[in-house]
Amino acid sequence: MENENKVRVCVIGAGPAGMSVLYQFAKLGKIPSIVCYEKQSTWGGIWNYTWRTGLDENNEPCHSSLYKDLWTNAPKEANIEFPDYTFEQHFGKPVPSYPPAAAIGDYLKGRWTNACFTDLKQFIQFNTIVRFVKFENNHFVVTIDDRKKNMTSQEVFSHVVVCSGVFNYPNQPEVRDIIKFEGRVMHSHNFRNANEFQGQRVLIVGSHFSGEDIALHCLKFGAKHVYLSWRTKPTGLNWPNGIEERPELVRFDEKSAYFKDGSLANIDAVIFCTGFRNHFPYLDTNLRIAEDTSTYPDGLYKATLFLNGGNNKLFYIGAQEQLYTMTYFDCLASWVCKYILGKLADEPKTEQQMKNDVIRWTTRMASIASIKDVADFQTALLAEISSSSGYDKGILNAVPIFVDWIRHREEDISNFRRHQFRSMYTGTLAPTQTPYMKIFDDSLENFLKF
Ligand SMILES: Cc1cc2nc3c(=O)[nH]c(=O)nc-3n(C[C@H](O)[C@H](O)[C@H](O)COP(=O)(O)OP(=O)(O)OC[C@H]3O[C@@H](n4cnc5c(N)ncnc54)[C@H](O)[C@@H]3O)c2cc1C
Repeated sequence: MENENKVRVCVIGAGPAGMSVLYQFAKLGKIPSIVCYEKQSTWGGIWNYTWRTGLDENNEPCHSSLYKDLWTNAPKEANIEFPDYTFEQHFGKPVPSYPPAAAIGDYLKGRWTNACFTDLKQFIQFNTIVRFVKFENNHFVVTIDDRKKNMTSQEVFSHVVVCSGVFNYPNQPEVRDIIKFEGRVMHSHNFRNANEFQGQRVLIVGSHFSGEDIALHCLKFGAKHVYLSWRTKPTGLNWPNGIEERPELVRFDEKSAYFKDGSLANIDAVIFCTGFRNHFPYLDTNLRIAEDTSTYPDGLYKATLFLNGGNNKLFYIGAQEQLYTMTYFDCLASWVCKYILGKLADEPKTEQQMKNDVIRWTTRMASIASIKDVADFQTALLAEISSSSGYDKGILNAVPIFVDWIRHREEDISNFRRHQFRSMYTGTLAPTQTPYMKIFDDSLENFLKF
């Protein structure tokens, strides 16, 4: 551990992951010298809806990929609810299992204010972009750009925690003759409002969570027909009338898309839901993890401590493919805070022990073949991390919730949100809500009316 007086921590991003770092330090009652740089004007990361696409209010690349009328795609009880601040506590009553984005943002901000005795905002420098991080002479030199003061400067830190998110740099495949296509072409990063596709025939490319959700959204808001193109295998889900699966997209012409089985579809618009890449352009190349997304990014001890540069003082939180989300970030953050303060019971390990541990997890990851396998993998990983950091092991009880959720999706993908779950911490069963395909108001007020 660094001499305590020399610890100065830089957190990059005030989304859920970055806020968990501030929150966990505050919870330990021992906040070191710390600055969190946030390029947007507020906290909450992608949970802040913006109408903007392309450039944000500071003329920087727009961060958020959130769209209007997004309701969580997994029950809040599985991956969002925190052991030390429940939804019931926040809203003063139990709320349904699949809230709209506005309710998630409200809940997160509630935890960072109501459940925390320290004013966490004092540590955040908003409208400030981290432009470059390099490691030299055993310190990180961080170049920042304050967009309000129009000032660029450098700061020196002992530790850096990368929490800048992984859903903002689109993975955009090239498709033969796409240039000929005369309709609308976009990536899900720029998808904001399904109303735009009313009466249209829409092709969704990519059949993972965002592709599924945007396909349903388009149908719900009046698209005439939706084609969902898969690459490796069909989803096998029970799609409602109006959504039809097609194999891999191979080319376009002016009006149509052509698929690997020789079929074609006449379409008005195509939305690429082809995922995102890990992108950390502001990190010196020797400090970056690979661009390919992964359930366990290589080189990260305990899925967070970067071993390939930065002398064991650089961390990533939230860079993995996500099933567990908020609780995962929080669990990792508690480990990181204790590691920085030298308060972990079982550290330090030798370099070789840490590398072997990473190999153990990346080897295990190779056998993941289903969503359930991801749930099991992440649960086992969190079990180890929480054993080490003392984080609440209650979060590990999420597996049965994930199992039910997987089954509900398979039974009825358009209405799996009708199922409600019991909070692992209060034991209360969430109340039922209007069927998802029939709710057209995603406001917090409407959500709390049920
Ligand atoms: C469309 C969509 C739907 C989702 N739905 C769900 C869901 O239903 N349930 C669920 O649990 N999860 C969901 N997620 C997953 C989501 O990633 C997590 O919930 C969570 O927001 C990730 O938190 P984060 O802090 O890692 O990243 P983010 O929320 O992306 O926050 C990162 C922050 O870093 C800032 N930043 C980036 N670069 C810089 C820089 N250079 N300098 C300074 N600041 C910077 C950004 O402005 C941002 O505020 C969804 C994601 C997307 C994209």
